[in-house]
Amino acid sequence: MHVEALACTACGERYPPDEVRYRCGECGGSLDVVYDYSEREREGSVSWELLRGRDFSHLRYREFLPVSESGREARRRGRQR
Ligand SMILES: [Zn+2]
Repeated sequence: MHVEALACTACGERYPPDEVRYRCGECGGSLDVVYDYSEREREGSVSWELLRGRDFSHLRYREFLPVSESGREARRRGRQR
């Protein structure tokens, strides 16, 4: 899932998603991850039919998790060992 930015929940200040930051530099507020959900809609890669056919676990919604494709692949490989 494409991460647009990190946004402060208190003042709205935004930071680049690849920046390692845990608190807002302006006010010290907590940061929230802002996702671009429209990317999934454009791709048409996720449908209710697809989700309904999966097990009831957090991986049911894996396309919406903040894990890159390479991270998913590494996790898959780790599970096979
Ligand atoms: Zn702030």
